[in-house]
Amino acid sequence: MIGAIIGDIVGSRFEFGPVPQKSFELFTPDCSYTDDTICTIAIADAVLNERDYKESLLDWCRRYPDPIGGYGRRFYQWFNADDPQPTDSCGNGSAMRVSPIGWLFDEWEEVIEEAEKSAIVTHNHPEGVKGAQCIAEAICWLRLMRFSKSDVERKVEKFFGYELPSMRDIKKIGSEGHFDGTCQETVPMALRCFIDANSFEETIRLAVLCDGDTDTKACIAGAVAEAYYQIPEWMIEKAISYLPDDMLIILGQFYERIQDSCGTKKE
Ligand SMILES: [Mg+2]
Repeated sequence: MIGAIIGDIVGSRFEFGPVPQKSFELFTPDCSYTDDTICTIAIADAVLNERDYKESLLDWCRRYPDPIGGYGRRFYQWFNADDPQPTDSCGNGSAMRVSPIGWLFDEWEEVIEEAEKSAIVTHNHPEGVKGAQCIAEAICWLRLMRFSKSDVERKVEKFFGYELPSMRDIKKIGSEGHFDGTCQETVPMALRCFIDANSFEETIRLAVLCDGDTDTKACIAGAVAEAYYQIPEWMIEKAISYLPDDMLIILGQFYERIQDSCGTKKE
């Protein structure tokens, strides 16, 4: 989960800002958590505190209605509506917020089911649901089954039909000024960044350098990379310094729960 948040914070200043340069600084005063972090916290809160996904998303987004970069237009209308209804969206929002589910459930059927539930409150388009399921499942494969990167690439294609684009193609698309806003674009791109990188930090850097929806690509890539790499402590500490207290409480609950369940499994 902190992997997703780090990606979001590092990518935040490039979403609508300057074109990232190769040796860009990861954390600067211009960085901030954005909608990706807020929604990820909302999903974690729902599972940890047995809240409804919709209710938790509405609560957190209404609490933080104006983050840097804002929200997608339809999502903004959704959480401000009197009676919010799913919007048939296939936007990448369902995948960017799903990572806690890949950690908090241990059976693959449950992961698939909960990822769908977390998505359909807004993103009930099949691609919106699939994007969330794929990312939650990839996290689960990596942390529980110790899949290799090539296993992930193969299974993602087999089960979800995503053919991962080459890094060259992703960079070309980004440099042409295209903004990847859908699950079917961002999810395979983010997975390619994870697969081609050699460390957590490199995963985040690659995702940001692809430009386009930088914070969401880095958020999704970082979420998956957390299940594979140890995140450097300094990066965790730095990211935490950007977060308000109510988010830190959920983050604390999340890691407590994860440690507890790891402890139980070892016994
Ligand atoms: Mg964002």
